[in-house]
Amino acid sequence: MTDVHQTIVQQTIATLREALGDAQVLTGQAISQRHYSDWTRHAPACPAALILPRDTQDVSTALRICNAAKQPVVPQGGMTGLAGGAVPTSGDIALSLDRLRGIEEIDVAAATVSVWAGTTLQEIQQAVADAGYLFPLDLGARGSCQIGGNIATNAGGNAVIRYGMTRELVLGLEVVLADGRVLNLMNKMIKNNCGYDLKQCFIGSEGTLGVITRAVLKLAPQPGETTTLLCALPNYPSAVALLRRIQREAGTPQAYELMWQDFFRMGVSWLENPVPPMSDQHPLYVLLESSARRDVLEQVLDDAVGAGEVVDAVLASSHAQARSLWKIREATGEFPTRLAPLNFDISLPIGQIGDFAQLCRARLEQRWPGNRSVYFGHIGDSNLHLTVDCHSLPQPAPVLEIEELVYSAVGELGGAVSAEHGIGLLKRDFLHHSVSDEALAVMHQLKSCFDPNGILNPGKVLG
Ligand code: FAD
Repeated sequence: MTDVHQTIVQQTIATLREALGDAQVLTGQAISQRHYSDWTRHAPACPAALILPRDTQDVSTALRICNAAKQPVVPQGGMTGLAGGAVPTSGDIALSLDRLRGIEEIDVAAATVSVWAGTTLQEIQQAVADAGYLFPLDLGARGSCQIGGNIATNAGGNAVIRYGMTRELVLGLEVVLADGRVLNLMNKMIKNNCGYDLKQCFIGSEGTLGVITRAVLKLAPQPGETTTLLCALPNYPSAVALLRRIQREAGTPQAYELMWQDFFRMGVSWLENPVPPMSDQHPLYVLLESSARRDVLEQVLDDAVGAGEVVDAVLASSHAQARSLWKIREATGEFPTRLAPLNFDISLPIGQIGDFAQLCRARLEQRWPGNRSVYFGHIGDSNLHLTVDCHSLPQPAPVLEIEELVYSAVGELGGAVSAEHGIGLLKRDFLHHSVSDEALAVMHQLKSCFDPNGILNPGKVLG
């Protein structure tokens, strides 16, 4: 930062303190390290200041002041993001939604909940469960991530196949624009075709177009008992055929998690009691959760075995057995301690995921013989995760080269370089593999329209 820039930042901080009070504008050591980086721990930096607004008006005042000074602002939620979207530089001012927290209203008739953006996902899930509803968004970071962050990243998670991504669960928003104007889009109605649906611009925009302060969310009925089923499959097309069979005959499952053999074996080997629930010689395994009646599920399974789609299966007969099957899939939670993981979150049309995994594996093997990569995913949502273990590569690990290899293969097969984690900083330079020049140009135009001074989360999503 130049001396002139430093002086402008200090003046802006003084103006913010005057307008909001000292307790709402922290600097230096008063800023917790939690605000230096997100879950990726990418490029941690103490921001020039941290604003902690108490309400929408504070957010509006803060943005108006920063916009007038052309001061970059980084919106921050629970800091669990996996794309570097909430990471500040030392010249940025971070704006945390931590204090905009709480449930405003559960409307039982409309089946909606109105919340402040800083409310954690888990708090929302619990509050609506007490009222007899389900808020179906669910992900591992539920205890720390905030609904504002979930909306800003259009988060996916465990139940997308049944309920959709965050975008499908948001009915209304309140957003503060870069110049401080407050857009009240707090709608509870399912049908509302009054002009452009502006809220959609902010969902998935990763804090680059506006700051989300409140939201109206759609609720679902609580599901009944579910059954957990692990199936071994002979090949990838069987995974797609089985999914469509289940949807036809037993309804859409709550979860449909595909694991390639290498992932399955690794997950089993990390169990306390590393005994596979079935032979570990099959090419693919699917773990699924369904709320269909057990006898219906058994019939589907019989039919699938008869059609050659399933070669072995375990239908959990107790909650404990279901948990132990899920433990294999939850091996991902141990990646950071057991591997040096380079994780990819990508999407491809479901019919092409098997080919992609084969292509990617072959290219990685050709370039770095003997490397270790594992494949798994929510394929019902067209979402594949792949993890390359950097321990198995020459050091220092050629991260950029691996990313280029994977993302260019995604582009070749018409896929998306981000399925659910967003673009942030970490995928920004690969966006062109999935987005055309024309679409990128329109994204830049949209950014200039909402944020002409470019103060909101500069450098994220778009370069
Ligand atoms: P942050 O990390 O604080 O911010 C993320 C982005 O949103 C940033 O660009 C930030 O600027 C912006 N932002 C935050 N709040 C606001 C706001 N109020 N207004 C405007 N912009 C804002 N993600 C999935 O999609 N599916 C998963 O299954 C999943 N599982 C995870 C499991 C674990 C263990 C962890 C650590 C993360 C997981 N994630 C998953 C990633 C992460 O939890 C999500 O991206 C989540 O939505 C981020 O929410 P957050 O509040 O932590 O946002």
